[in-house]
Amino acid sequence: MTARILLVDDVEGSRRLLQAKLTAEYYDVSTAADGLSALAMAADEPPDIILLDVIMPGMNGLQVCRKLKADETLKHIPVVLLTALDSREARLEGFRAGADEFLSKPIDDVFLFARLRSLARLKVMIDDLREREESSRRMGMSPMPGARLGASGGRILIVDDDPEEAGALAADLSAEHRPFIEADPEKALLTARGPIDLAVINIGCHGFDALRLVAGLVSRDYSRQAPILAVVDPRDRSRLLKALDLGVNDLLPKPFDPLELRVRAKALIRRKRYADYLRDTVVQSMEMAVTDPLTGLNNRRYMMGQLDALFEECKSGSEAISLLMLDIDQFKRVNDTWGHARGDQVLKEVAGRIAACVRTMDLPCRYGGDEFVVVMPATHLSDAAAVAERIRCAVSASPVMVEGQDIRVSVSVGVSTNEGEEDRPESLLRRADEALYEAKVSGRNQVMLRATKR
Ligand code: GH3
Ligand code: MG
Repeated sequence: MTARILLVDDVEGSRRLLQAKLTAEYYDVSTAADGLSALAMAADEPPDIILLDVIMPGMNGLQVCRKLKADETLKHIPVVLLTALDSREARLEGFRAGADEFLSKPIDDVFLFARLRSLARLKVMIDDLREREESSRRMGMSPMPGARLGASGGRILIVDDDPEEAGALAADLSAEHRPFIEADPEKALLTARGPIDLAVINIGCHGFDALRLVAGLVSRDYSRQAPILAVVDPRDRSRLLKALDLGVNDLLPKPFDPLELRVRAKALIRRKRYADYLRDTVVQSMEMAVTDPLTGLNNRRYMMGQLDALFEECKSGSEAISLLMLDIDQFKRVNDTWGHARGDQVLKEVAGRIAACVRTMDLPCRYGGDEFVVVMPATHLSDAAAVAERIRCAVSASPVMVEGQDIRVSVSVGVSTNEGEEDRPESLLRRADEALYEAKVSGRNQVMLRATKR
């Protein structure tokens, strides 16, 4: 997977060298020689990943990183800090500044490319979700923010068959999270159904192949979204690279540093919750786009789409499509007598009774106000009329009980059926509406059929 990389380094020689390596791997690379121009370039054309030298004159890499992470529009770009120092303090300071990854110079190429691949994958996923969320916002659908966006209280699965190491990992994480230790891969998969916020896996387990477990977690629906932090022996390069290839999100070199463990765990959990939040928001707004919030039935927009699709499907005219249009009788009077809020409750109850009377293949919708439509695929007029009569009876049979009050309502129904190839969804709706009008003028609480064109 390729990506647009912004490489920031004040030393021309090392900048050129790294640029050449990245370009040879088909990354699209732009470069900056200092922090200020890096920030300007990132703002002007946000890259997918930023490689940032820590030690630079003027604004250093940590300062640039803090600025990037404080910017709403740029904070989602993964930042990899590059430094000549491989000290624990330098690493921790980098993570505190919000860096996503840390590589020490001289840079190990294989390792660099493996990290870039996994960061690029992550970036694509987050971008995709952010884009969808933004478009639903533009369409005026901003669902309730319900997600936990914090990074504490995570359910963490620790898989390690070295009891001492597992205990140490759990002890370090338990101050902020809820760790569970498993030494058996089958049990680990069961625990992952939990669901979990993070899996910490020692990929050097002796009793079983932990890479197989990684593959199992990545391929299962219930654990796919959970990030994996692999505890690795830095000398075991082949397993370490294989782990990254399989989709491990981050590495913790042994012997592990407790603070680094906590910082990495926190970053992974925060990122997961953000992705979960975006995913939920997108699903929620897709549902909002097609659902009537009061009754929970599909809305008019969705119904029109489905009706168009049905007409497309049976262009040959062979399939019968019937449609019911229903309107509550004297509903204004319900509102006037009992108030709008109780009127809403009546609408909900009537919607429920309509939904309970139709068959699974039928599509009941709220058309607007006190009007409902039922689209009935593969249904002839007489069957549609029977369903209409069933609904009419169900609505008038017993009063709607709202806050201890019995409110009596009835519906009038117009029924129409499509008539061959030339027919259009709009004409089917118009004919049902005409039939409904007839039902109203001839006394309400009745079903009228419109079989043929006029
Ligand atoms: P008819 O038998 O001729 O249908 O008489 P009606 O009083 O039901 O007249 P109509 O269908 O034209 O009026 C629908 C009323 O439904 C008008 C509006 O105030 C009310 N209404 C529309 N949407 C809502 C809603 O969401 N909640 C409530 N409580 N009332 C609504
Ligand atoms: Mg009405």
